[in-house]
Amino acid sequence: MKANSFIPPNRILMGPGPSDVCDRVLEAMARPTIGHLDPVFIKMMDETKQLLQYAFQTQNELTFAVSAPGMAGMECSFANLVEPDDKVIIAKNGFFGERMKENVERFGGIPIVIDDEWGTKVDLNKIESALNEHKDAKIVASVHAETSTGALTDPESITKLAHDHGCLSIVDTVTGLVGVPLKVDEWGIDAIYSGTQKCLSASPGLSPISFSNAAKEKIKNRKSKVKSWFLDLNLIMSYWEGEGGRSYHHTAPINALYGLHEALVMLSEEGLENSWKRHKENHMQLREGLEKLNIEFLVKEEDRLPQLNAIYIPDGVNDLESRQKLLNEFNLEIGAGLGVLAGKVWRIGLMGQSSNKKNIEYCLNSLAEVI
Ligand SMILES: *Cc1c(COP(=O)(O)O)cnc(C)c1O
Repeated sequence: MKANSFIPPNRILMGPGPSDVCDRVLEAMARPTIGHLDPVFIKMMDETKQLLQYAFQTQNELTFAVSAPGMAGMECSFANLVEPDDKVIIAKNGFFGERMKENVERFGGIPIVIDDEWGTKVDLNKIESALNEHKDAKIVASVHAETSTGALTDPESITKLAHDHGCLSIVDTVTGLVGVPLKVDEWGIDAIYSGTQKCLSASPGLSPISFSNAAKEKIKNRKSKVKSWFLDLNLIMSYWEGEGGRSYHHTAPINALYGLHEALVMLSEEGLENSWKRHKENHMQLREGLEKLNIEFLVKEEDRLPQLNAIYIPDGVNDLESRQKLLNEFNLEIGAGLGVLAGKVWRIGLMGQSSNKKNIEYCLNSLAEVI
């Protein structure tokens, strides 16, 4: 078979991820591949860990990037922390809560799903009632930033409730990390995972993750083996943590890690607080423009994520045709609605590098032309 090199078009990525990856990160990824046990590479891995600790605001020793996308971070958290018959309370207010439920079931746990309407944040009273009703629950899981709806949830309060009832707290911050305030140690979160392709603006395929000492203890004292070999943290710990004595577990995705490292260096240059502030300010600017176009948000103002704006598709506007036009004529990608919101909303991402004034103006002008 004869084939030509693949040359992708230059798109502007303003959907639910991936976000724009800047040249600096792409150039880092194009550097020579070296061995993953090369001391020089190990030094970069150690630095990546420190930079991730900064991004998560944690001192957790067990902080690293899983060699697979955000979903693997989710699976890694549940695979390691859920033992057969463990009750897990899941705060579900969108698409990703449903996936948490499936994970709990697959690892032999008993999911207790607490539903809130898509587009609203998690109701803390319901979580508290569930904890009172299920005194034997072991874990409370929640989604910091629900990418399917653009709703922000309060993982600090959920974690506090979990701890008050002797539970661990698992938090999905795939879309939250770097885009909205997050303080893993201050809030006491036990297990948290993210992705590289949302507000970190590195290429997709890695999942930054972090575990507290309490989580680590639970994993070390499991009665049964973790049901996944690849994601078993007992095996991975020696690979990421064993200073100098790193042994083979799997071949790290070397060049993808160069990219993540560079994206994290850029974060340290900008400063975490400045990144949170930039995401917020740009969201306000987009909001102003959307209001001028008479476009309405799904989520009420105080619960909105700055990096994911779910807006109602205006009456009489064709969903698919409009998005195709944006992609083909404007090189602009925005997201469709997921699940119950399919055909009802669009999702405009202002994540990481994509969150800038030029993109906002371009997006507003393009939207005005297609609707
Ligand atoms: C994107 C996303 C994931 C999954 O990440 P992938 O990198 O696509 O596997 C999980 N949870 C949330 C909230 C997300 O937005």
